[in-house]
Amino acid sequence: MTAKIAIVTGGTRGIGLSIGRKLAADGFQVVALYNGNEEAAKACEKEIGAKTFRVDVTDFDACQNVCAEIEKNLGPITVLVNNAGITKDGVLHKMGKDTWDSVIDTNLTSCFNMCRAVMMAMRERAYGRIVNISSINGQKGQFGQTNYAAAKAGMIGFTKALALECANKGITVNAVCPGYIETDMTAQIKPEVLDSIVKQIPVGRMGTPEEIAEAVAFLSSEKAAFITGSTMTVNGGQYMT
Ligand code: NDP
Repeated sequence: MTAKIAIVTGGTRGIGLSIGRKLAADGFQVVALYNGNEEAAKACEKEIGAKTFRVDVTDFDACQNVCAEIEKNLGPITVLVNNAGITKDGVLHKMGKDTWDSVIDTNLTSCFNMCRAVMMAMRERAYGRIVNISSINGQKGQFGQTNYAAAKAGMIGFTKALALECANKGITVNAVCPGYIETDMTAQIKPEVLDSIVKQIPVGRMGTPEEIAEAVAFLSSEKAAFITGSTMTVNGGQYMT
């Protein structure tokens, strides 16, 4: 039997790699998209048997092309995890237009690009699982992150609207909002700032990528058929919605 295909954008490092690892363990053929870190892509292929493609998820045509290629050469895409994301922090009164655009494009427009690329085939097959990786900061806001908070909040609205559009087609669309997780992204935060953040987390520590992967894997499974349009927080109690 051909393995079911799960695409994870930004799937070669950090949270995306952990999601891929878990989905591979659950029997999926994982396809990981990445932006430029070839070393991480090779390591990901080796470790979890993923196919990797260097695709900029802000590029609409590139997303269309890679999904068409995957469907043609590997098989039907069953799961899409929109995980690729970046931060470019700065206060609004000093933020350049490029900084705004790149964060919105990478985190939010990418969801449109990828969902648009898989949606027709999922509708025809009347099955699909889409999980969008948003953020605690899209729920509560964060100083210096108007761009990122807007993009991540936008993903939640996008998730709910798309969930409505395809609920009767066997396709679920959900958002997962991680709190602070130990990855390269949070390694950029100054240690003293991270210490003050950890003090605000009731569980008393940062989360691990594996803890996000468990939530995503469940929402990606057939068992989660009645969960759609939801926003799942995985944040150690830091923000309760
Ligand atoms: P990392 O910075 O560790 O990894 C980011 C991944 O996204 C990399 O694989 C990178 O590819 C890929 N990527 C970035 N830009 C693009 C692009 N334009 N096209 C394709 N791929 C791209 O991030 P994390 O693992 O920390 O975060 C993953 C997701 O979780 C993000 O959406 C983030 O916003 C969200 N999140 C993270 C939190 C955290 O605490 N870490 C908290 C809340 C949400 P490459 O390796 O080639 O650069």
